[in-house]
Amino acid sequence: HAKEKGRNNYQFFSESMNNYLKLRLEMENDLRIALSEQQFEVYYQPQYDAESMAIVGLEALLRWRHPTKGLLTPNYFIEIAESTGLILGIGDWVLMQACRQVRQWQKESGCAYRVAVNLSASQFTQSYLLDTVRKTLDETGLPPETLELEITETAMLKDTAETIPLLFSLKKLGVRLAIDDFGTGYSSLSYLKNFPIDTLKIDRTFVEEIVTNSKDCAIAQTIVQLADNLQLCTIAEGVETSEQADILRKLGCAEFQGFYFSHPLPVPQLSLLLEH
Ligand code: C2E
Ligand code: MG
Ligand code: MG
Ligand code: MG
Repeated sequence: HAKEKGRNNYQFFSESMNNYLKLRLEMENDLRIALSEQQFEVYYQPQYDAESMAIVGLEALLRWRHPTKGLLTPNYFIEIAESTGLILGIGDWVLMQACRQVRQWQKESGCAYRVAVNLSASQFTQSYLLDTVRKTLDETGLPPETLELEITETAMLKDTAETIPLLFSLKKLGVRLAIDDFGTGYSSLSYLKNFPIDTLKIDRTFVEEIVTNSKDCAIAQTIVQLADNLQLCTIAEGVETSEQADILRKLGCAEFQGFYFSHPLPVPQLSLLLEH
């Protein structure tokens, strides 16, 4: 009996493994044509000043309108995009699209909205990134100080010998640099000393239970104080309630981003929001 059961389990395992590989291969093939078939879209999520509650920034968030699977968030495909190298082409496209769109909104409103663009670890190399950013700023006319590049700790610490000159070259172009999901990666305080960073984004996991969990509150407080002492800006991610915003405001967090204020929105909806 046991033997039979074992065999069935094995069959079940290999079958589901097979399905997984098939699905992955399918996604990979779909992803290869997605860019040329114009299936990608950029959504924008506003970032608010904690005091005035004015919109000060917009984070560009990639979406894939898959022909049969519907609208997909990056969790479904970004890892595949990275492992296939497709992320470089997609990343170029997002950067250009976001800078062009936000430049447009800047012109229409007269407000110097900032645009935040996420970079994956494989985009974070000297030869690729500097040219791409320089070219995008040139072509779109976006003021460099209104572009913020979001990089995770993990990507930054991939190869610190390369990271430091790259970050300084990017700063020379005039752009801003943010650490995304701060506090969740290989945190090391020494890079805050050595890297020319402008902003810390307090990860959503510390915000989620900030009202009830005193440890999360203490961590958020410590990040804000650390940022203040180093003269960095702080943005809290994933703010979903007014209570969370109140606590973060008391702690001195400079900016908020989250579903409580606005979900990531497509261009037409965000245009309406900016007009009001
Ligand atoms: P991220 O950069 O940390 O972006 C924040 C994520 O949190 C977004 O998920 C956003 O929709 C979500 N979010 C915002 N407010 C709330 C909230 O109040 N509650 C909750 N539960 N979630 C909230 P999204 O758009 O699915 O993106 C996931 C991740 O994919 C991003 O995390 C980023 O790491 C990556 N990503 C997005 N766009 C790009 C891109 O263009 N290039 C690269 N390389 N990565 C991207
Ligand atoms: Mg981000
Ligand atoms: Mg984040
Ligand atoms: Mg995140």
